[in-house]
Amino acid sequence: MSSRLRGKSVLITGASSGIGEACARHFAQAGSNLLLAARRKERLESLKQDLESRHPDIQISTFGLDVRNRKLVFSTAKEHFNEVDVLVNNAGLVIGLDKLEDITEEAMDTMIDTNVKGLVHVTQSVLPGMRARNKGHVINIGSVAGHQAYGNGSVYCASKAAVASITKALLYETVDTAIRVSEINPGMVETEFSVVRFRGDKDKADSVYNGLQPLDGNDIAETVIFVAGRPEHVNIAEMLVFPTNQA
Ligand code: NDP
Repeated sequence: MSSRLRGKSVLITGASSGIGEACARHFAQAGSNLLLAARRKERLESLKQDLESRHPDIQISTFGLDVRNRKLVFSTAKEHFNEVDVLVNNAGLVIGLDKLEDITEEAMDTMIDTNVKGLVHVTQSVLPGMRARNKGHVINIGSVAGHQAYGNGSVYCASKAAVASITKALLYETVDTAIRVSEINPGMVETEFSVVRFRGDKDKADSVYNGLQPLDGNDIAETVIFVAGRPEHVNIAEMLVFPTNQA
């Protein structure tokens, strides 16, 4: 399976930590060439060094890229993202979890601008190249939150519901092409995200797991590799990946 990914050009957003970093490690293991994007360029550089020492046969480029910056996304894409085989739209965040009446405009804007508009920016910048070559795979990291809203998560859940709708719409828009479109929806995953969502309160973050064992980035990366590694005529449109004890 992994031989199908060897030599492929894989763009991963949000590759500086968590699920994105784990995806980078798994695609590198499969022999893919990597385009790694995130705001924390220094994190990407140390990941690149580590991966290059383990996998000297692959090519890795890093990009300090804020997916909210539409102009920067398009100019970077024009120069570097012309032949992307697999796009993993993973960059995303949650800013606190609050009752609807307490969500600040800044938090709302940041989540929508990153999780929704950022994902659209990157996809728009890469899709014309995929259409021109009539091949490619867009893999969006959504969330169970996009399919099952919860209290104090309204805007985050809405942003991930938007990802689900965008994915489904793109699936229809590319149905007459060889381009594949997939959405992978994780349940609880232990990453930097887990603490950030409670504004650095690790005890509160840990309490959410309430005895269940969360997934880690590798669990999702293995799923992404599986989806990306199917034969070209097979598209896994949607997957929900939960910890065993999360309902
Ligand atoms: P992390 O916080 O570990 O990773 C988030 C990544 O997104 C970082 O690499 C961060 O990089 C990047 N990012 C955030 N904002 C931007 C931006 N404006 N431009 C570019 N990159 C950005 O969390 P996870 O790995 O858990 O999250 C990855 C994805 O998984 C997200 O889309 C999240 O919504 C989703 N998810 C996570 C779940 C969980 O329980 N952890 C559950 C379901 C879905 P940098 O700060 O360097 O820019």
